[in-house]
Amino acid sequence: MDADGHAHTTFSDGSALGDMVAAAEAAGLDALGLTDHCIVTDDPFGRRERYDLVETYADRRAVIDEARAGTDLRLYDAAEVSYVEGDEARIGAFLDRAEFAYTIGSVHFAGPYDYTSASQYADLDSADRRAAVERYYDAVVSLVESELFEVLGHLDLPERMGALRRYTTREDYERVAAALADSRTVPELNAGRVHRSLGRVHPDPAVLDVFREAGVEFVLGTDSHAPAELRERVPVLRDAVRDAGLEPLPLGTLVD
Ligand SMILES: [Zn+2]
Ligand SMILES: [Zn+2]
Repeated sequence: MDADGHAHTTFSDGSALGDMVAAAEAAGLDALGLTDHCIVTDDPFGRRERYDLVETYADRRAVIDEARAGTDLRLYDAAEVSYVEGDEARIGAFLDRAEFAYTIGSVHFAGPYDYTSASQYADLDSADRRAAVERYYDAVVSLVESELFEVLGHLDLPERMGALRRYTTREDYERVAAALADSRTVPELNAGRVHRSLGRVHPDPAVLDVFREAGVEFVLGTDSHAPAELRERVPVLRDAVRDAGLEPLPLGTLVD
Protein backbone atom coordinates (compact mmCIF):
# COMPACT_ATOMS: atom_id res chain seq x y z
CA MET A 1 0.00 0.00 0.00
CA ASP A 2 1.55 3.26 -1.04
CA ALA A 3 -1.47 5.56 -1.03
CA ASP A 4 -4.34 6.47 1.25
CA GLY A 5 -7.16 7.98 -0.76
CA HIS A 6 -9.48 8.99 2.07
CA ALA A 7 -8.55 11.33 4.94
CA HIS A 8 -10.25 14.23 6.72
CA THR A 9 -8.78 17.51 8.00
CA THR A 10 -10.10 20.44 10.03
CA PHE A 11 -11.77 21.63 6.82
CA SER A 12 -14.44 19.09 7.83
CA ASP A 13 -14.44 16.84 10.91
CA GLY A 14 -10.79 15.76 10.88
CA SER A 15 -7.44 16.91 12.26
CA ALA A 16 -4.83 19.50 11.30
CA LEU A 17 -3.79 18.94 7.71
CA GLY A 18 -0.08 19.00 8.55
CA ASP A 19 -0.58 16.32 11.21
CA MET A 20 -2.39 14.06 8.72
CA VAL A 21 0.45 14.53 6.23
CA ALA A 22 3.04 13.67 8.92
CA ALA A 23 1.06 10.54 9.85
CA ALA A 24 0.98 9.44 6.21
CA GLU A 25 4.74 9.92 6.00
CA ALA A 26 5.23 7.91 9.21
CA ALA A 27 3.06 5.13 7.78
CA GLY A 28 5.41 4.86 4.81
CA LEU A 29 2.93 6.08 2.20
CA ASP A 30 3.87 8.09 -0.85
CA ALA A 31 0.48 9.62 -1.59
CA LEU A 32 -2.41 10.97 0.46
CA GLY A 33 -5.85 12.07 -0.67
CA LEU A 34 -7.36 14.90 1.38
CA THR A 35 -11.07 14.25 1.14
CA ASP A 36 -13.00 16.55 3.41
CA HIS A 37 -16.77 16.28 3.53
CA CYS A 38 -18.40 18.40 0.87
CA ILE A 39 -22.16 18.80 0.86
CA VAL A 40 -23.72 20.70 -2.01
CA THR A 41 -27.33 19.82 -1.21
CA ASP A 42 -29.33 21.18 1.71
CA ASP A 43 -30.37 18.26 3.89
CA PRO A 44 -32.79 17.79 6.76
CA PHE A 45 -30.03 16.49 9.03
CA GLY A 46 -28.04 19.72 9.27
CA ARG A 47 -24.93 18.24 7.66
CA ARG A 48 -24.76 20.96 5.01
CA GLU A 49 -24.27 23.56 7.75
CA ARG A 50 -21.59 21.57 9.54
CA TYR A 51 -19.52 20.76 6.46
CA ASP A 52 -18.84 23.83 4.37
CA LEU A 53 -16.06 22.81 1.99
CA VAL A 54 -18.28 24.26 -0.74
CA GLU A 55 -17.24 27.64 0.67
CA THR A 56 -13.74 26.82 1.94
CA TYR A 57 -12.21 24.62 -0.76
CA ALA A 58 -10.14 27.50 -2.16
CA ASP A 59 -8.72 28.23 1.31
CA ARG A 60 -7.91 24.56 1.76
CA ARG A 61 -6.24 24.51 -1.65
CA ALA A 62 -3.83 27.19 -0.45
CA VAL A 63 -3.06 25.17 2.71
CA ILE A 64 -2.45 22.03 0.62
CA ASP A 65 -0.10 23.97 -1.67
CA GLU A 66 1.86 25.11 1.36
CA ALA A 67 2.02 21.56 2.72
CA ARG A 68 3.35 20.29 -0.59
CA ALA A 69 6.45 22.42 -0.16
CA GLY A 70 7.32 20.51 3.03
CA THR A 71 6.73 16.89 2.02
CA ASP A 72 7.72 14.30 -0.56
CA LEU A 73 4.21 12.86 -0.40
CA ARG A 74 1.96 13.40 -3.36
CA LEU A 75 -1.04 15.27 -1.91
CA TYR A 76 -4.37 15.16 -3.69
CA ASP A 77 -6.77 18.07 -3.34
CA ALA A 78 -9.87 15.87 -3.29
CA ALA A 79 -13.26 15.70 -1.57
CA GLU A 80 -15.83 13.29 -0.14
CA VAL A 81 -19.09 14.52 -1.60
CA SER A 82 -22.50 13.50 -0.27
CA TYR A 83 -24.56 12.18 -3.16
CA VAL A 84 -28.24 13.08 -3.12
CA GLU A 85 -30.58 11.65 -5.73
CA GLY A 86 -32.29 14.30 -7.81
CA ASP A 87 -29.59 16.91 -7.19
CA GLU A 88 -27.11 15.61 -9.78
CA ALA A 89 -27.11 18.80 -11.89
CA ARG A 90 -26.25 21.06 -8.97
CA ILE A 91 -23.60 18.69 -7.62
CA GLY A 92 -22.09 18.30 -11.09
CA ALA A 93 -22.00 22.08 -11.68
CA PHE A 94 -20.20 22.61 -8.37
CA LEU A 95 -17.68 19.83 -9.06
CA ASP A 96 -16.94 21.33 -12.51
CA ARG A 97 -16.22 24.65 -10.84
CA ALA A 98 -14.17 23.30 -7.93
CA GLU A 99 -11.95 21.06 -10.06
CA PHE A 100 -10.90 18.64 -7.33
CA ALA A 101 -8.23 16.10 -8.28
CA TYR A 102 -10.88 13.43 -7.71
CA THR A 103 -13.99 12.95 -5.63
CA ILE A 104 -15.38 10.18 -3.47
CA GLY A 105 -19.17 10.02 -3.76
CA SER A 106 -20.85 8.79 -0.58
CA VAL A 107 -24.45 8.13 0.36
CA HIS A 108 -24.73 9.52 3.91
CA PHE A 109 -28.47 10.14 3.76
CA ALA A 110 -31.35 9.26 1.42
CA GLY A 111 -35.00 10.21 1.72
CA PRO A 112 -35.93 10.09 5.41
CA TYR A 113 -32.84 8.11 6.38
CA ASP A 114 -29.56 9.36 7.86
CA TYR A 115 -27.04 6.52 7.63
CA THR A 116 -24.54 8.20 9.96
CA SER A 117 -26.71 8.20 13.07
CA ALA A 118 -27.94 5.00 14.70
CA SER A 119 -30.69 6.49 16.86
CA GLN A 120 -33.25 6.49 14.05
CA TYR A 121 -33.19 2.71 13.67
CA ALA A 122 -33.27 1.37 17.22
CA ASP A 123 -37.07 1.17 17.41
CA LEU A 124 -37.71 -0.14 13.89
CA ASP A 125 -38.89 -3.69 13.28
CA SER A 126 -36.89 -5.85 10.89
CA ALA A 127 -39.05 -5.10 7.83
CA ASP A 128 -38.52 -1.37 8.33
CA ARG A 129 -34.78 -1.86 8.94
CA ARG A 130 -34.55 -3.80 5.70
CA ALA A 131 -36.48 -1.02 3.90
CA ALA A 132 -33.97 1.55 5.17
CA VAL A 133 -31.06 -0.58 3.92
CA GLU A 134 -32.69 -1.24 0.55
CA ARG A 135 -33.19 2.52 0.12
CA TYR A 136 -29.48 2.97 0.75
CA TYR A 137 -28.49 0.60 -2.06
CA ASP A 138 -31.00 2.21 -4.43
CA ALA A 139 -29.14 5.47 -3.82
CA VAL A 140 -25.72 3.82 -4.22
CA VAL A 141 -26.69 2.41 -7.62
CA SER A 142 -27.94 5.87 -8.67
CA LEU A 143 -24.68 7.39 -7.43
CA VAL A 144 -22.65 5.01 -9.59
CA GLU A 145 -24.92 5.56 -12.60
CA SER A 146 -24.63 9.34 -12.22
CA GLU A 147 -20.94 9.10 -13.25
CA LEU A 148 -20.29 12.18 -11.10
CA PHE A 149 -17.52 10.65 -8.98
CA GLU A 150 -14.25 8.78 -9.43
CA VAL A 151 -14.74 6.73 -6.23
CA LEU A 152 -17.68 5.16 -4.39
CA GLY A 153 -17.20 5.67 -0.62
CA HIS A 154 -17.67 3.04 2.14
CA LEU A 155 -19.78 0.75 -0.03
CA ASP A 156 -21.83 -0.99 2.69
CA LEU A 157 -22.15 1.92 5.13
CA PRO A 158 -25.35 0.66 6.88
CA GLU A 159 -23.27 -2.20 8.28
CA ARG A 160 -21.55 0.34 10.54
CA MET A 161 -24.64 0.53 12.71
CA GLY A 162 -25.62 -2.38 14.92
CA ALA A 163 -29.33 -1.88 14.22
CA LEU A 164 -28.81 -2.22 10.44
CA ARG A 165 -26.01 -4.77 10.46
CA ARG A 166 -26.65 -7.94 8.45
CA TYR A 167 -29.64 -6.39 6.66
CA THR A 168 -27.46 -6.05 3.54
CA THR A 169 -27.95 -9.01 1.21
CA ARG A 170 -25.69 -10.63 -1.36
CA GLU A 171 -28.15 -9.33 -3.98
CA ASP A 172 -27.46 -5.77 -2.80
CA TYR A 173 -23.74 -6.30 -3.38
CA GLU A 174 -24.45 -7.90 -6.75
CA ARG A 175 -26.44 -4.97 -8.05
CA VAL A 176 -23.81 -2.49 -6.89
CA ALA A 177 -21.13 -4.61 -8.58
CA ALA A 178 -23.14 -4.69 -11.81
CA ALA A 179 -23.49 -0.89 -11.77
CA LEU A 180 -19.76 -0.46 -11.04
CA ALA A 181 -18.83 -2.81 -13.89
CA ASP A 182 -20.55 -0.41 -16.32
CA SER A 183 -19.14 2.80 -14.77
CA ARG A 184 -15.94 4.81 -14.50
CA THR A 185 -16.53 4.90 -10.73
CA VAL A 186 -14.42 2.52 -8.62
CA PRO A 187 -15.15 1.54 -5.02
CA GLU A 188 -12.72 1.93 -2.14
CA LEU A 189 -11.64 -0.60 0.42
CA ASN A 190 -12.44 1.59 3.44
CA ALA A 191 -10.92 1.07 6.89
CA GLY A 192 -13.12 3.59 8.73
CA ARG A 193 -14.46 1.04 11.22
CA VAL A 194 -11.77 -1.62 11.43
CA HIS A 195 -11.07 -0.84 15.09
CA ARG A 196 -14.65 -0.21 16.16
CA SER A 197 -17.67 -2.48 16.45
CA LEU A 198 -17.78 -3.41 12.76
CA GLY A 199 -14.21 -4.75 12.97
CA ARG A 200 -13.65 -5.12 9.25
CA VAL A 201 -13.25 -3.10 6.08
CA HIS A 202 -16.01 -1.89 3.77
CA PRO A 203 -17.18 -3.73 1.78
CA ASP A 204 -17.40 -7.04 3.62
CA PRO A 205 -14.34 -9.13 2.61
CA ALA A 206 -16.69 -12.13 2.42
CA VAL A 207 -18.30 -10.66 -0.71
CA LEU A 208 -15.19 -9.47 -2.54
CA ASP A 209 -15.66 -12.39 -4.93
CA VAL A 210 -18.82 -10.66 -6.22
CA PHE A 211 -16.77 -7.63 -7.23
CA ARG A 212 -13.87 -9.65 -8.56
CA GLU A 213 -16.20 -11.62 -10.82
CA ALA A 214 -17.59 -8.33 -12.16
CA GLY A 215 -14.05 -7.13 -12.92
CA VAL A 216 -14.28 -4.30 -10.37
CA GLU A 217 -11.05 -2.86 -8.93
CA PHE A 218 -10.55 -0.97 -5.65
CA VAL A 219 -8.64 2.01 -4.33
CA LEU A 220 -7.64 2.14 -0.65
CA GLY A 221 -8.86 4.58 1.98
CA THR A 222 -8.35 4.74 5.74
CA ASP A 223 -11.21 7.26 6.20
CA SER A 224 -9.12 8.71 9.02
CA HIS A 225 -10.07 11.77 11.02
CA ALA A 226 -6.98 11.73 13.28
CA PRO A 227 -3.27 10.99 12.74
CA ALA A 228 -3.33 7.97 15.07
CA GLU A 229 -6.23 6.45 13.09
CA LEU A 230 -4.26 6.77 9.87
CA ARG A 231 -1.17 5.14 11.37
CA GLU A 232 -3.21 2.25 12.82
CA ARG A 233 -5.38 1.63 9.77
CA VAL A 234 -2.70 1.51 7.08
CA PRO A 235 -1.34 -1.85 8.32
CA VAL A 236 -4.89 -3.23 8.55
CA LEU A 237 -5.56 -2.24 4.96
CA ARG A 238 -2.27 -3.77 3.88
CA ASP A 239 -3.33 -7.04 5.54
CA ALA A 240 -6.82 -6.91 4.00
CA VAL A 241 -5.34 -6.41 0.53
CA ARG A 242 -2.94 -9.29 1.03
CA ASP A 243 -5.63 -11.60 2.44
CA ALA A 244 -7.96 -10.83 -0.46
CA GLY A 245 -5.23 -11.11 -3.09
CA LEU A 246 -6.21 -7.65 -4.35
CA GLU A 247 -4.09 -5.45 -6.58
CA PRO A 248 -5.33 -1.99 -5.57
CA LEU A 249 -5.57 0.77 -8.15
CA PRO A 250 -3.01 3.56 -7.69
CA LEU A 251 -4.65 6.90 -6.86
CA GLY A 252 -2.91 8.41 -9.85
CA THR A 253 -5.16 6.45 -12.20
CA LEU A 254 -8.13 8.45 -10.89
CA VAL A 255 -6.53 11.69 -11.95
CA ASP A 256 -5.03 10.83 -15.33
ZN1 LIG B 1 -18.42 9.13 4.59
ZN1 LIG C 1 -14.88 9.93 5.14
